[in-house]
Amino acid sequence: MLELRGVVKRYGDFTAVKGLDLRVERGEIFGFLGPNGAGKTTTIRMVAGVLRPTEGTLLLGGDDLVADPAAAKARLGYIPDRPYLYEKLSGGEFLRFVAGLWGKDGPEAEARGDRLLELFKLTEWKDELIESYSHGMRQKLLISSALIHQPEMILVDEPMVGLDPRAARLLKDLMRAFVEEGGTIFLSTHTLEVAEALCDRIAIISQGEVIAQGTMDELRSQSEAAGGAHLEEIFLKVTGGDAMQHVIAGLREAIQR
Ligand code: ATP
Repeated sequence: MLELRGVVKRYGDFTAVKGLDLRVERGEIFGFLGPNGAGKTTTIRMVAGVLRPTEGTLLLGGDDLVADPAAAKARLGYIPDRPYLYEKLSGGEFLRFVAGLWGKDGPEAEARGDRLLELFKLTEWKDELIESYSHGMRQKLLISSALIHQPEMILVDEPMVGLDPRAARLLKDLMRAFVEEGGTIFLSTHTLEVAEALCDRIAIISQGEVIAQGTMDELRSQSEAAGGAHLEEIFLKVTGGDAMQHVIAGLREAIQR
């Protein structure tokens, strides 16, 4: 469904993404993890078609994101970590606006918007301005807007931040249902329990390169972690947990009186 071949992104002299090769199959939830500054958001923004790669190819459902962005992007719903919502629109207007951008208007899109708002318990807020929405409500509206044009794949950057436990659970169930219906999810998060529970396969990147990739079992053997090891342990191992111990030792020293 999604393929990255030798994708490089440079910001001036700095190379944030160094030749990424990834394949995400239809019907799977693929976790994309890594420490701060690893290049996750940069990669996600290239897949979303917001950033152009410096080198390499990105294929979405076979369509080239650089050569044929409109076809590729129509397959995609993007839930960014720092979204921009139009404060002076109501939730209902915003969904209508987004549906319109995809060339979907009229009663069918309206009904789909209403169903999504209902799912997220936002129906009674439909005509209220977004400026009056809480953080979690904005997040739910954003998720609704990413689903409005019936995408084949959803790209999610830190989806759980600010959601209450009920909404977080709903989103997890929704992601599972989405892939069961043949959709695909590319998910970036720092919440490793969520990634472990939800993802079929995971790639861990560091300094712009994949350092481990596969199912939980494959990651365990790649990182030489114990049989039942959780993702947190694997993540810390492959991204240099020893360095963290060093920092903690330094901090201890600094706070000792
Ligand atoms: P986080 O988990 O902290 O969100 P990330 O894995 O999403 O991190 P990116 O935001 O992709 O990381 O950043 C990767 C690297 O590229 C970082 O070193 C960052 O400082 C750098 N970077 C990101 N955007 C730009 C930019 N517009 N110009 C210059 N450097 C940038």
